[in-house]
Amino acid sequence: MQTELDYLRQKVPFLENIIASLETEKAEWYHQKMQFETKIAELNKIIDNLVLKNKALNKNVAEKQSQLNDIDINSMLDVDFDRDFDGDPPATNSFDQGGSDSSSQGVTKQRKRRKNPDPQAWEQNVNKKMREEGKAYKGKVKVDGKWQYQAERRARELQPPCQCKMSENSKGKLWCNKFTEEHRKYIFDMFWSKSWEEKRKAVQTYVRVDEPSDCRNRKNEISRRKNTFFYRLPDETGTLRPVCKNQFWNTLDIRGHMVAKMIEKQDEEVESEQEDTSNL
Ligand SMILES: [Zn+2]
Repeated sequence: MQTELDYLRQKVPFLENIIASLETEKAEWYHQKMQFETKIAELNKIIDNLVLKNKALNKNVAEKQSQLNDIDINSMLDVDFDRDFDGDPPATNSFDQGGSDSSSQGVTKQRKRRKNPDPQAWEQNVNKKMREEGKAYKGKVKVDGKWQYQAERRARELQPPCQCKMSENSKGKLWCNKFTEEHRKYIFDMFWSKSWEEKRKAVQTYVRVDEPSDCRNRKNEISRRKNTFFYRLPDETGTLRPVCKNQFWNTLDIRGHMVAKMIEKQDEEVESEQEDTSNL
């Protein structure tokens, strides 16, 4: 029994070494995984962008084609019209030219133009998609009582880290200064490669909301619930760590209004336009 125990005791440092080296290896793999995921997100953005451009080109081609068809059909009709009434092809008609010209012009004027596909609806879709991906897009503004896509909105980008001293002073209460720029960029890229629905879920996971403890005051609750937000971001192992508001806002490049909407589960409204005037 004693010898067996000794044997096992000798084994302990050996196993500890193996564990340590496996931990190191795990960290290296995790780092690689992060880099791959960032790259994939980048590639996905490029692909989406190309798909959009391709769609735009196809639309353009279809439009041009339909315009061409329009012209062909109508000029053929014009010729037939002249033939039926004059008995002669228009090109050889020498003495009755004035009359036949005016009649064919009348037809041309009455020609029904094919309705163009709604370019505004298409623009709206493109803008919606650009906005979801955090790219520069055109926001809606009212011009002469009509909504138009004219307001330039900048692309989302990683904002500078917070300058708060909280994480040093409060002895590790906040993790702000433990997040490297590389990891902050990773969080940003991940977030903006997601759909609105996924973004909303991420924010709801990251931010812990404490409802006010004083629930007895019903009047207050109805007039305005004031919740306390605790902001957290995932560290390099995916564990959520508390950060200050600025670190949270700047890392995701979203502002209070959008955070609040995402937490309030108003998903349709998050996608709506008025969200983000604070972001300009
Ligand atoms: Zn901070």
